[in-house]
Amino acid sequence: RAKSLGRNRIQFYEDGMMEKALARRQMESDLTQALKCGEFRLDYQPICRLSDRAILGFEALIRWDHPLRGLVSPAEFIPLSEENGMIVQIGEWVIEEACRQLAEWPEEVHVAVNVSPMQMRLPSIVEVVRRALAAHDLAPQRLTLELTETALVRDGAHLARNLIALRAMGVKIAMDDFGTGYSSFTHLRDFELDQIKIDRSFVNVAQEDHKAWAVAQAVTNMARELSVGAVGEGVESSEQITRLMELGCDVAQGFFLGRPMDGTRATALLADAAAADHIAAE
Ligand code: C2E
Ligand code: MG
Ligand code: MG
Ligand code: MG
Repeated sequence: RAKSLGRNRIQFYEDGMMEKALARRQMESDLTQALKCGEFRLDYQPICRLSDRAILGFEALIRWDHPLRGLVSPAEFIPLSEENGMIVQIGEWVIEEACRQLAEWPEEVHVAVNVSPMQMRLPSIVEVVRRALAAHDLAPQRLTLELTETALVRDGAHLARNLIALRAMGVKIAMDDFGTGYSSFTHLRDFELDQIKIDRSFVNVAQEDHKAWAVAQAVTNMARELSVGAVGEGVESSEQITRLMELGCDVAQGFFLGRPMDGTRATALLADAAAADHIAAE
């Protein structure tokens, strides 16, 4: 309707659309500000070996401490920053910051970084990663890039080239939230991966949820057949850990194993773990 009035005309919005558009504009300018003023930080959630709960590494999760709104969830600002392209700068900051932090930790420790679909298709991603690793003198094997299945859907050629270059460098690639996107199986055949993360909707479930556990079992079996690692996401109870181990999934993360924490606390956790000989080399 607004369209038929042509350009340069006052447009009529549905109820609430104006407010939404304004909120978006506000958020966009706030995001620019956030990068400049250092309002982003990374939290780190432990990824553990289940047999002894030893720490293998951490997943870096972005946090935005908004001056007025307080903590804003990445689920809110990451999708918007993908739409307006700001994810490119934000994503570079995340990679650089995760590498800076990783360089302070023992050599056995890994870090997994989430990379948005758009960022993963840019030719520059390979250089961004290479530069961050070199700047902090890190072995590429210590860095995992997590991407969701939706990343693999469009413009597969650019993406495939980047994945090949990154893996050739030694960086690991994980498929995040497995089971929630589409045509997962095609992607497993077309792209070389190192890890599959089983989405928490199949893990953070009741013992009696036979369907969810059947999917978790199938994904674990498939990962083994493909010689890639399987990681359970969203573990919130010891029963879920027991269940994952029965399925043959040896690695997981979740609130039960450790909540996301800031870098200082993660460093302290690693110091305790090192003292108890509880950091796993893998
Ligand atoms: P994700 O990559 O699947 O990350 C896991 C999410 O699950 C995190 O939410 C984490 O806090 C949450 N989680 C971990 N264990 C549990 C559990 O036991 N129970 C429950 N209920 N939740 C658990 P978070 O930090 O809010 O991040 C949400 C999503 O935002 C991430 O999902 C990821 O897709 C995206 N994201 C986060 N940081 C970044 C980033 O630096 N770059 C990009 N592109 N995306 C990011
Ligand atoms: Mg992730
Ligand atoms: Mg995930
Ligand atoms: Mg998830």
